Amino acid sequence: MAQKVLVVEDEPSLLETLEYNLVRQGYEVRTATDGLQALEMARQEQPDLIVLDVMLPGLDGFEVCRILRQESNVPILMLTARSDEVDRVVGLEMGADDYLAKPFSMRELMARIKANLRRVRLTREETLAESGNGGAETRPASQLVFGDLVIDPERREVYRGQELLHLKPREFDLLLFLAQNRGIALGRELILERVWGWDYGGGSRTVDVHVRWLRQKIEDDPANPTRLVTVRGVGYRFEG
Ligand code: CA
Repeated sequence: MAQKVLVVEDEPSLLETLEYNLVRQGYEVRTATDGLQALEMARQEQPDLIVLDVMLPGLDGFEVCRILRQESNVPILMLTARSDEVDRVVGLEMGADDYLAKPFSMRELMARIKANLRRVRLTREETLAESGNGGAETRPASQLVFGDLVIDPERREVYRGQELLHLKPREFDLLLFLAQNRGIALGRELILERVWGWDYGGGSRTVDVHVRWLRQKIEDDPANPTRLVTVRGVGYRFEG
């Protein structure tokens, strides 16, 4: 099946060139010409990769990247106007996977797209292979494995069997903290302090809400949790 690439670029001639070359390479292509449209298309089309220009009308590419990153792990390749270090650093901080400074050659862009798609595919295949044969010895040491649940702190990804779970950043932080302290009853205040930070203004109900969301994603029966259990009068305990 063809891989789908979303191209976000407001300059019509460049957009057309990009689309033409990607289609020729066998990709299915979607396009957007401003930031809001980019968000809409990304959500609706679930592309395998996004090529994202920084300078866009409305929401700029950095902002689009930051928002998308909270929703998915789709590889994002940013096109920056200058070979400016600042653009690169900001882009990577916003969660971009790669960047390319304008002007770039089509050949270079195609190579980068291919490399980023391959990297994602390899990671998925590794995860599948390992959860299939229980090959713990080949698994990166940092991964936490609980049956069919695999937490990868470095990639900030969580798999359940073959499925990549879509966790919000805070849900991920919470799950990771609980999993790293498996078997230990953790109080709401402690969780709040360690996951949300000292200066967080919200109450401990925040923890309950996030636990509920997490259970929807990691439990067979969220109403009768077996992984993330409630400890009455205290808080929560991760059982694995
Ligand atoms: Ca532009």
